[in-house]
Amino acid sequence: MSDREARVVAQVDKRLHLGGKWRDASSGATFPVEDPSTRKVLCDVADAGREDAMEALDAAERAQPGWARVAPRERGEILHRSFQLLMERQEELAVLMTLEMGKPLAEARGEIAYAAEFFRWFSEEAVRIEGGFATSPDGKSRFLIMRQPVGPCMLITPWNFPMAMGTRKIGPAIASGCTMILKPAHQTPLSALALAGILTEAGLPEGVLSVLPTTNPGAITEPLLADGRIRKLSFTGSTAVGRKLLEQSAPQVLRTSMELGGNAPFLVFDDADLDAAVDGAMLAKMRNIGEACTAANRIYAQSGIAEEFSRRLSERMGALRLGRGLDDGADVGPLIDDKARDKVQGLVDDAVRRGARVLVGGGAGEGPGHFYQPTVLADVPFAAELSTTEIFGPVAPVLTFETEEEAVRAANDTEFGLVSYLYTRDLNRAMRVSEALETGMVGLNQGVVSNPAAPFGGVKHSGLGREGGRVGIDEFLDTKYVGIGGLD
Ligand code: NAP
Repeated sequence: MSDREARVVAQVDKRLHLGGKWRDASSGATFPVEDPSTRKVLCDVADAGREDAMEALDAAERAQPGWARVAPRERGEILHRSFQLLMERQEELAVLMTLEMGKPLAEARGEIAYAAEFFRWFSEEAVRIEGGFATSPDGKSRFLIMRQPVGPCMLITPWNFPMAMGTRKIGPAIASGCTMILKPAHQTPLSALALAGILTEAGLPEGVLSVLPTTNPGAITEPLLADGRIRKLSFTGSTAVGRKLLEQSAPQVLRTSMELGGNAPFLVFDDADLDAAVDGAMLAKMRNIGEACTAANRIYAQSGIAEEFSRRLSERMGALRLGRGLDDGADVGPLIDDKARDKVQGLVDDAVRRGARVLVGGGAGEGPGHFYQPTVLADVPFAAELSTTEIFGPVAPVLTFETEEEAVRAANDTEFGLVSYLYTRDLNRAMRVSEALETGMVGLNQGVVSNPAAPFGGVKHSGLGREGGRVGIDEFLDTKYVGIGGLD
């Protein structure tokens, strides 16, 4: 680690952030956090257990009534100050994120800005929570409709966007007046702990937020979800874990938001602007080293342009430089761990066994980290495993189609439904296909859909609920109706 990197790591409090105070895990346990590009240990972080979780819950419960009464403007101002602090410290936070997660520094800077925008957006939404008033159809009573915070929330986030997945949940929870317990992924706890420090500095009252890194997630989340005082679970992660958490949420009938896995189809029609389509595919595929739920997982190119599109895409992918995210000139960082790299290699091998051609890449990268080469596969058969499995790595499989109907059928032939992309210059086709695609989001002639001001989320096995946009705050609010009678 360079001096600058060591300084950035040293600045983070590695203890639990429990009800607004910092302290060691009650068991005294810690666990190591590694740099995935060197496999070296960056530091040790407190390892929370059941006892710590219950203490965090007590704090969240105690703080909830007072926090719900704090003026919306004040809650908004805490968020706005946090937005400013995130942006003031963008550089050091980006270095920290690259160290623990591996993404290139430029992308980490982008994520800090994206993460901060959720705070800015929800600082504005905090003062726009509206109810309603109406006269009943028979004229005999009045309806007063109120919005109230759902109560203490459990937030669980993945490692791939260590800061933004946290702010996307914490922002609306603060804006609506909910207290919360955040459990970040064990690979990337440092960004979440740094965020807790910033929110405290911005004036978040004690007890409103706890951050509990752990190597034993079940030991924390199961008792919390079973307790009855948590009223909402907001989870981002894999569909398999999401399903398990939905089961655990059922006995207490918890409100749940589920941002789960994806398997995004990327459709390029013969009439597309090919330069734009290649640019879009690079973004949709390579953002975050391919480790994004929104990553283009299956690229369908119409037969008239398939060869040319694949050639151009291979040229661009082949020119990318693998390297440690903090090194100058590195375009693509390492995958998060060996398991992830083995999975990607297995999917490529399977496709090749079934007849796919490797146009570029196809194997592990050099160095101690979990690097994988940017890869393009052509002539990928529809039966290849990577058509049905989330790749989560820098591999772009190109499949060829003849008709629009065939493309839409293939795109929808998955249990996932997070996002799809389509490139065409035909307005009628653009609207027809956008309507027919079974996903929560569509990138029409654009390769990125994530935007704090837009409702992010999926259908089918990709999840429940939306984060961001005008509806993002609804996930943290209950609607109460007061029927007013006796007015005659
Ligand atoms: P994951 O294995 O499901 O883990 C996500 C989070 O759940 C982590 O904090 C993890 O903790 C925790 N967890 C794991 N097992 C648990 C259990 N039994 N009980 C409670 N919590 C548990 O997913 P991941 O590998 O970190 O992230 C990749 C997945 O997230 C992909 O499928 C991706 O598509 C999805 N994702 C979706 C979105 C979206 O908005 N739809 C955004 C980003 C990522 P540990 O770290 O300790 O295992």
